[in-house]
Formats: sequence, structure tokens, C-alpha cells
Amino acid sequence: MSARQRISERIRRHIRQRANYLCEYCHAAEQWQYVRFTVDHVIPRAQGGADTLENLALACFHCNRRKADRLTAVDPASGEEVPLFNPRRDVWGEHFIWSADGLSIIGTAPAGRVTVAALVLN
Ligand SMILES: [Zn+2]
Repeated sequence: MSARQRISERIRRHIRQRANYLCEYCHAAEQWQYVRFTVDHVIPRAQGGADTLENLALACFHCNRRKADRLTAVDPASGEEVPLFNPRRDVWGEHFIWSADGLSIIGTAPAGRVTVAALVLN
């Protein structure tokens, strides 16, 4: 069964409001996208993640598709496998900054770096 069927419209509305209508990974604004954002399972269902608010995040189609069922990725700086950015546990501003021209996202901590690389945020 798809997330769309399992998660009620009320919960989906709550998730969008909580995320301020931004993708919780790349901070794209939903209003500028052609397709409605999706609800991402931070811990994938395939790995036991629940359909609860604590495990759900608003994600653009692009980030959701690239993240897929992953929880970790290899940090390009250290070569070590580290957890991806977790929007329920981690603070965006502690893991990412915008480049000076405002066009790209730079990972400033391991979770930020692997998420930029794994989700191809730029
Ligand atoms: Zn995104």
C-alpha cells in the first residue's frame, strides 16, 4: 500500500504546516513546484519506520525519490558511512548553509554533507 493511502489527509495537512510548506531536505518551496510534495518516512517503512508524525517529513518529489529506502550514505570527506540528515531529530541550520550566491546548499556537518551528495540537492 502506498503512503498516500495509509496516511490520512488530516495528518498530511499537519505535516505540510509543520514544514512551513518547504521540503524538509532541500528547502524548496512547495508553491513553486509543479507536483505536490510527498510525505517521506524518515526511517523507511521497509526498515520498520512507523506512519507517525515523529517519523514523517515533507519532501519534494526529487528528494523523496533519491532518498528512497536509505538511512545512511558515505561521507565524501571522510569515506565513512554516516546517517543522513533526519528532519525530526536534526536542525537544518546546524547541518547546511546556503552558498553566498544563495543558489546551492553546502553541508557543514557529516549528515549535511552526505545528504547533499546522496539527494543531489544542488
Ligand atoms: Zn527536496
